[in-house]
Amino acid sequence: MERQEEQILEYLTGAKKVLVGIGGEWRADRNPDITGAYRALAKVLGDKDYFIVTTNTDAAVYKSPLNSERVVAPCGNETWRQCSAACTKDIWEQGEIPDDICPHCGAPLTGNTREAETYIEEGYLPQWQKYTAWLAMTMNRELLVLELGEGFKVPTVIRWPFEKTVYFNRKSHMYRVHQTLSQVTEEIGDRAVPVAENSVEWIKRLENML
Ligand SMILES: [Zn+2]
Repeated sequence: MERQEEQILEYLTGAKKVLVGIGGEWRADRNPDITGAYRALAKVLGDKDYFIVTTNTDAAVYKSPLNSERVVAPCGNETWRQCSAACTKDIWEQGEIPDDICPHCGAPLTGNTREAETYIEEGYLPQWQKYTAWLAMTMNRELLVLELGEGFKVPTVIRWPFEKTVYFNRKSHMYRVHQTLSQVTEEIGDRAVPVAENSVEWIKRLENML
């Protein structure tokens, strides 16, 4: 185990870019100390050129020392409000609209997440464009990929695209950390390492080795 962590820290030192995926194991409602976990991640990433993709909608990542400009949450943000009837693409901050009622059509507001009946995707699209531009710049560069606690609920956001990125970038190394779902496909087996451990505990352990 110790050796594996030393290897990761070595890759981290050499990496020009670090791509991070954050999944269900990091949900705030499942972790009493999620703030500590994000703080540990921020320390591990330091001043690296990183980008974070999260499938969580709890917005906990935005309350951490991590740079929000380097985060995209394609599944949405519960603390943002949208019209439940999707009559407008407007998105409001929590509490910005007094009665949580759409000022345009009178329908109740709802969280701006993919759980909404009609999800208004404009909320994350500007960040998504930043992310794809950033990702294009990782081509042929030393890239470290840390996939932390992502299951199979929405594999099209993190799991499958990350595998594709690692498959095509021969200078990349990937760690897929998940208590029960850490398996990696054979095609990227020489560059991707499964770590069968809870990713929140794992990142705290990694931080302690810095
Ligand atoms: Zn409305």
